[in-house]
Amino acid sequence: MMKSKKYNLSEFKSGLEELNIVLSEKQIEQFIDYYELLTEWNSFMNLTAITDFDQVIKKHFLDSLSLIKAYDLSREAKVIDIGTGAGFPGIPLKIAFPHLEVTLLDSLNKRIKFLNEVKDKLAITNLDALHGRAEDFAKPEKLREKYDLCVSRAVANLSTLSELCLPYVKAGGKFISYKSEKIKEESIAAKKAIGILGGEVEEQVEFTFSDEGLYRNLFVIKKIKPTPKKYPRKAGLPGKEPL
Ligand code: SAM
Repeated sequence: MMKSKKYNLSEFKSGLEELNIVLSEKQIEQFIDYYELLTEWNSFMNLTAITDFDQVIKKHFLDSLSLIKAYDLSREAKVIDIGTGAGFPGIPLKIAFPHLEVTLLDSLNKRIKFLNEVKDKLAITNLDALHGRAEDFAKPEKLREKYDLCVSRAVANLSTLSELCLPYVKAGGKFISYKSEKIKEESIAAKKAIGILGGEVEEQVEFTFSDEGLYRNLFVIKKIKPTPKKYPRKAGLPGKEPL
């Protein structure tokens, strides 16, 4: 029996319709496999506070996919998700848009183990899960300025995050942060940092998911010039002393 028969998918399907995303049976099955692995592994390690099926669908899967409102995901692109945790938003993006080349980065190794299990069980290709700090992987011999798009959700304030994320983006590429209501003060405080790091605020795409009233602000920063060599500073400093 298809696993999808075990679950009521009406919320997922209407959410996908709202985002104009069409998934195959196979992709729906992959999302369900991901949900099952997430809840199974969550019983012995801390991955998410949300475990109810409908809530995971809305607050993790559909929220991750809402990026489509700010970025054309139909094209090929190299994408990095900084501080991905249990894989959000990187895994939902990779399942729904398999042509994307996705790198997931997190400083907690047990989460990387989980992500590799998801990759194997769902038979996902062109996905790398890397263990380390964003400050360290941004070195020139590693992943500096290699990506068309950097995304991040629930990792740090916008100043800190700009120093962690903008070094990964090629000139002309974008860094998109999934933000909440607090964005006004945060964005004012981050303006200087964004400029120093070679970015420019392009737009903010704000919306609420219709039935739950969940607010989301996708804060879009364009990379207009290379990030100066001295950034990011050594691990910990972007958080302790934001630019
Ligand atoms: N993005 C996921 C989400 O929205 O559910 C996880 C958010 S979780 C609150 C923050 C994650 O960022 C944690 O998994 C943590 O290990 C990771 N993290 C924090 N600082 C980091 C850094 N400097 N480099 C890499 N990962 C980092």
